[in-house]
Amino acid sequence: MNDTATAHAGAPAKRLDVIIVGAGFGGMYAVYKFREMGLAIQGFEAGGDVGGVWYWNRYPGARVDLPSIDYSFGFSREIEQEWTWKEQFAAQPELLEYINFVADRLDLRKHIQFNTRVTRAVWDERRQLWQVTTDHGDVFEAPYCIMSTGPLSLPRDPDIAGLSRFKGELLRAAKWPHHPVAFAGKRVGIIGTGSTGIQIIQEIGPQCGELFVFQRTPSFTMPMRNQTLGADYVSEVKRNYAGIREAALNSAVGGVRPQSTRGFFTVTPSQRQELLEASWQQGGLAMLGTFADLLTNAEANEHVAEFVRGKIDEIVTDPAVAEALKPRGYPIFARRPCLDTSYYETYNLPNVHLKNCLTDKIVEITEKGVRLESGEVELDMLILATGYDGLTGALMAFDVIGRDGLSINQLWKAGARSYLGLMIAGFPNLFMTTGPTGPAALANIIRISEHDVDWIAEAMRHMERNHLATMEPTAEAEERWMALVATLAQRTLVSQAKTWYVGANVAGKAQGLTLFTGGFQKYREYCRAATEGNYRDFTFAPAEALATA
Ligand code: NAP
Repeated sequence: MNDTATAHAGAPAKRLDVIIVGAGFGGMYAVYKFREMGLAIQGFEAGGDVGGVWYWNRYPGARVDLPSIDYSFGFSREIEQEWTWKEQFAAQPELLEYINFVADRLDLRKHIQFNTRVTRAVWDERRQLWQVTTDHGDVFEAPYCIMSTGPLSLPRDPDIAGLSRFKGELLRAAKWPHHPVAFAGKRVGIIGTGSTGIQIIQEIGPQCGELFVFQRTPSFTMPMRNQTLGADYVSEVKRNYAGIREAALNSAVGGVRPQSTRGFFTVTPSQRQELLEASWQQGGLAMLGTFADLLTNAEANEHVAEFVRGKIDEIVTDPAVAEALKPRGYPIFARRPCLDTSYYETYNLPNVHLKNCLTDKIVEITEKGVRLESGEVELDMLILATGYDGLTGALMAFDVIGRDGLSINQLWKAGARSYLGLMIAGFPNLFMTTGPTGPAALANIIRISEHDVDWIAEAMRHMERNHLATMEPTAEAEERWMALVATLAQRTLVSQAKTWYVGANVAGKAQGLTLFTGGFQKYREYCRAATEGNYRDFTFAPAEALATA
């Protein structure tokens, strides 16, 4: 591999070994890993600094819903010992502090060009290089291109008429301002009651003059029961990090969480109630671990949904509000389960008003606020927590053009395709971390990112050892993987809700669950198997072919 500059029409293109797009967890680890392999690397990041979603999502109440000790890098024993988590579920400022600590500690920033969006990546078949153009007009070339663009990095505005007319403060959760935002005395509206909206509502409800929640689909949320981590607990974790990581790698979710082999109907109704109550009191995602069949047995799932609806009745004092908050018509856990500290309680505050937009639809956004069928709600501030064009959005938002002029954008119009969420047939030497058809979103994104980067690094070493210039999956292997992903998707209730998981939140997007639902440990097995037999599921071009081209 070399780093000589090659001429490009106009300005000279900078020649590298590896180009990495995105500086969230996946991109940061890729920068570190490939630098340690002695490769010439360059990262690009649209944001002003490292952190991905945690850089952008500075909204009030932003917090991770996995335990911090799991939701942290595992590749550096030193960093694990040097960093001390303060909370069981870290809030965004602590997470960003951690991310900055890692970037400083490993001196990653000098390899990343910030405030730079990649606008085009084109495979040059003759020279067997990716040619990458940025929004500054610069061109870079490298045999390898890593897309660490993230499954949730392209926010979407709601498709409601009149958004641009609103004259008050318009804030987007996913692009929250860096300066403090005041809510006191203001009439604030929020659209969106997914994980993001729930976190914002419970945080700002007590602060606003009045808060109007425009809810279309209610979400299920369970108590987080967050805690400050004590010194003894942290020491114990630090002694046992190796075991904790090992357990996470061998779990379905990439983290240490109770899992059960018990079927819902194998125990009596009163035992079920006791188990569900205990998990509610325990908090976090404990409820998901009470029974093994909650995502496959619709009847069991409905019992659990009803248990949570009962909790809403217990907490919310106004029966009509409680009823409107109860999710119906889709299985619990088929949408991302939310964790809260005081979400349902927030609706007991006299200044917080729930607007049920299933029965009283949003007609338009006006200069002054939101017009419902029942009339206009005047607002000083409107917050959008309306989600993302998930999984595929970021990679379809710019031109990624592989062999024979095929673009990812064209290819994925009919639905995301890839082999293992890592590579795409027709796109040689283009790798993804946490890509679609992998387990992204259903397991700990950091464990997946590390796994993916390690897998890519091993593939590169294989190519180096064997004097190979390019690699891509065979069409057959990709087809086999897509069939497996589809078969597994049919077995889970996750397919049965209209969510970003299935593309239902974006008009015109191909529908279907293009996530691997077989669990993280199984995913790792498939990725390992794909490299056995001399990478039989891939085609390679020898380096000599390039030399003589
Ligand atoms: P989301 O789950 O897709 O929720 C978007 C919300 O906006 C939904 O309530 C949706 O209602 C509403 N919405 C969209 N368009 C609308 C319209 N035209 N009118 C009315 N309502 C509209 O997005 P999110 O809350 O940002 O969460 C996305 C993912 O990010 C989560 O699933 C999770 O994976 C991740 N996340 C994690 C955390 C955490 O770790 N704690 C926090 C935040 C986010 P409909 O459902 O009716 O469309």
